[in-house]
Amino acid sequence: PLLGQDVSRTYRLGIMGGTFDPIHYGHLVTAEQAFDDLDLDVVVFMPAGRPAFKQGRNVTSGEDRYAMTLLATSDNPHFVATRFEVDRAGVTYTADTLELLREIYPDNVELFFITGADAIAEIVTWREAGRIARLAHLVGATRPGYDLDRADDLISGSPYDFDVTYLEVPALAISSSYLRERVSGGQSLRYLTPDSVTGYIHKHHLYGVVPTRYVSVL
Ligand code: ATP
Ligand code: MG
Repeated sequence: PLLGQDVSRTYRLGIMGGTFDPIHYGHLVTAEQAFDDLDLDVVVFMPAGRPAFKQGRNVTSGEDRYAMTLLATSDNPHFVATRFEVDRAGVTYTADTLELLREIYPDNVELFFITGADAIAEIVTWREAGRIARLAHLVGATRPGYDLDRADDLISGSPYDFDVTYLEVPALAISSSYLRERVSGGQSLRYLTPDSVTGYIHKHHLYGVVPTRYVSVL
């Protein structure tokens, strides 16, 4: 059934937002744990269009980040990748995205915005924090190197009424930055991200790998 179609029940929609430059097992294991622990119906992976933060760095095209996200999620029946933010022009703000989703889905669909401990600590300090609190539940996942208790202090001290669930995730001390560094240093990505993603990175010469020989068709 379509999400929200059966009016006799509520649906729980997980939203895993991120730059996903590239997606890795830290993102995937976090979403899977949220799916299980919060009894979600589905988790939507939403690569950011042009993130409001991260405007300093040269972010890989939305097209490539979406393609890698699609590859990484394709074998999981309750994961979906969406072009929702990538297709929107200009800088995308999380509150606007959540508002649009809130308009698309009927009231029996609840939104759960999934973030790691670093991201959740940032959200409560954003200009749009109040709107986010009204639109979605938050899921704060443990992430090695970041303190979830500190995030909780920030949230408790915030003037907004966040509904947060904390989530213990198998610890993977990895990040997209680390993967990018490894690629540019010629190191393997095996066991850090699905092989399909690694293949895509190499095929499209992402993250500073200069190919010695290739054939361009288009
Ligand atoms: P970058 O190094 O470019 O910032 P990243 O690995 O932090 O990349 P993002 O796309 O910035 O990935 O993060 C998307 C979401 O996934 C954030 O909510 C972040 O906290 C979470 N996340 C990323 N890596 C992990 C991890 N290893 N464990 C738990 N959560 C993670
Ligand atoms: Mg990050």
